[in-house]
Amino acid sequence: MSRHWSLALGAGLALVILSGAAVAREQRFELRCMVEGAPAKVIEDGSLDTPARAQYLNGQRTIAVSPKLTEGLSAVVQTFLVAHECGHLIASPTLTAAYHQRVNPDRERVADRIGIRLLRDQLKFTLQQAQIIAAAFRVTKGALPAYLPGPERERWILACYKTDTPDCS
Ligand SMILES: [Zn+2]
Repeated sequence: MSRHWSLALGAGLALVILSGAAVAREQRFELRCMVEGAPAKVIEDGSLDTPARAQYLNGQRTIAVSPKLTEGLSAVVQTFLVAHECGHLIASPTLTAAYHQRVNPDRERVADRIGIRLLRDQLKFTLQQAQIIAAAFRVTKGALPAYLPGPERERWILACYKTDTPDCS
């Protein structure tokens, strides 16, 4: 009898903890973004007009994340956003103006490629987690022209997870 009681109590407690987690913001995983041997800083920036952005300011590489615009996203997708920005920093460590002005899908494809592989190799993200991330980009609402169309981006992210080649084939 007492065992039943403690089980019931345990289940009730778990429920309380679970419902608490449901309202709380999902915390992204800790990703180390190393660029040319030095770690980029990851900060929260409430004034951002985009979910995340890579910046190179006064020699300090920074990845800024908007707490507001990433609020409803799962932890794995939030972490991918940081990894994607890290991909930009690795691809172009000083983020020159030319890099920003060039509006082409290559820039975004490369950042996606580096990002998803960082999650795979550093955080040991599974294929299932990669699928959740890729699926989150299937529908692109008001996305910049620099990005691949949603379904293509989804396929690209998954293909890069599964391979190690530059063209993810
Ligand atoms: Zn990007």
